[in-house]
Amino acid sequence: MEFRKQISTVELLTPHRFERETQIVEYREDPLTGSHSRINVARAGRRRQGQRGESDLSEVVASTKGDCFFCPQNIEQQTPKFPPQICPRGRIERGECLIFPNLFPFADYHGVGTLSRKHSLDLDEFTPEMLLDNLMASREYIAAVHRVDEGAKYPMWIWNHLPPQWREHNSSPRSNTG
Ligand SMILES: [Zn+2]
Repeated sequence: MEFRKQISTVELLTPHRFERETQIVEYREDPLTGSHSRINVARAGRRRQGQRGESDLSEVVASTKGDCFFCPQNIEQQTPKFPPQICPRGRIERGECLIFPNLFPFADYHGVGTLSRKHSLDLDEFTPEMLLDNLMASREYIAAVHRVDEGAKYPMWIWNHLPPQWREHNSSPRSNTG
């Protein structure tokens, strides 16, 4: 049985010193089912939010606020930057949105963009301006990637809400927009 995979290296500038780092993304094919998956082995070591046994959403919000890397007090120092060939300023900012590389990418180009400077929003607190700013900034990132790699032409825009582990353990239509 042959286990086929294709390996890509992804470059980013990692916090806190913003030195160049490359990570490995594997595109694997399942020999039995033919299905494909993407793996970044380094993701196994990443710090996760919302894993402390909370059962109430307000507890999750409160316990993750202080050391949250997406909040304004941490975002500059704790999120990575794009390499200069993609984005000379390192990140893309528009309104409350900041786009930066995923610290543990699982695609050749993998950005993360915030929607708000607030740590948590209820579903009725997302505004059209937040979405517009995020979409426009995302478009800028996608265009920047396409300029350096014409083969990259199938972008995906995915919206997550709430920490992933909490979503899995408490999944309900009310609390899951991802
Ligand atoms: Zn936060």
